[in-house]
Amino acid sequence: MVEEHPAVRPAGNDAAHAPLLRAEAISRRFGGVQALRDVSFDVDAGEIVGLIGPNGSGKSTCVNLLSGTIAPTGGRVLMSGAALGGARIERAVGHGIVRTFQATQVFAEFTALDNVLVGCHILYRSGPAAAALRSAGSRREEGELRAHALDCLAFVGIADRAQSVAGSMSAAEQRLLMIAVALAARPKVLLLDEPAAGMVAAERRALADVIRAMPARGTAVLLIEHHMGLIMQVCDRIVVLNFGQKIAEGTPAEIRANEAVVEAYLGTRHDDA
Ligand code: ADP
Ligand code: MG
Repeated sequence: MVEEHPAVRPAGNDAAHAPLLRAEAISRRFGGVQALRDVSFDVDAGEIVGLIGPNGSGKSTCVNLLSGTIAPTGGRVLMSGAALGGARIERAVGHGIVRTFQATQVFAEFTALDNVLVGCHILYRSGPAAAALRSAGSRREEGELRAHALDCLAFVGIADRAQSVAGSMSAAEQRLLMIAVALAARPKVLLLDEPAAGMVAAERRALADVIRAMPARGTAVLLIEHHMGLIMQVCDRIVVLNFGQKIAEGTPAEIRANEAVVEAYLGTRHDDA
């Protein structure tokens, strides 16, 4: 038999038929608080999956577990059938899982382009392009990296801000920049934690277009968002959490019509799209 690697174990099913990302009965307890309990769902290649629920329902905890930011107290996370062990961000990135944060994190004193280039270096060190980057001393390779960084800025719609200092950019532009940095690693799945927070309607619409274009670039998406307009517009499927447990999963139409979801969440919010 194949010897078990401590971190990447065969899941016991054929990787060719395994979903891209699988949360398998993942749980997380913080002292006496059960933040997440036995939550299972998949994100397949090419999909945009929404993760919604009231404040404190466990959405960020879920992203933290999937991205290896913290370790689950139960269950496991699999990528293409291989289990990711414990809290290892670098391992998750190596498997193609990249996340953005609920609070914008960029280097305020760097230009937008340099933010993406720094992100490339940090993310690529443990990612699939690690070898390429280690040998990227030559002018040509640096040029390719720069072209890739500019392409990521263009993809999120802020190419014209490449030479702007990040701290001088609007909050919405900084959020887009954080997404560009994440995309620079060419993730197989991107976990977006409330990317539209603080955005006005026009900015949310632009963000929706960016998110919708991700699968065609080879990046599936798990989207956490409070704005139901954005969620309903871009998601193929939606997973609903309440008090740390999954209470529903379905298409936007199914979720809108789900009484338990309306009672726990949708009925209490009146977000404009
Ligand atoms: P959401 O993102 O849906 O608002 P969270 O995942 O942030 O919810 O939080 C879920 C629950 O877990 C909340 O009760 C929260 O207080 C608790 N929690 C989250 N992170 C921690 C932590 N690091 N320590 C203690 N409790 C936490
Ligand atoms: Mg949260």
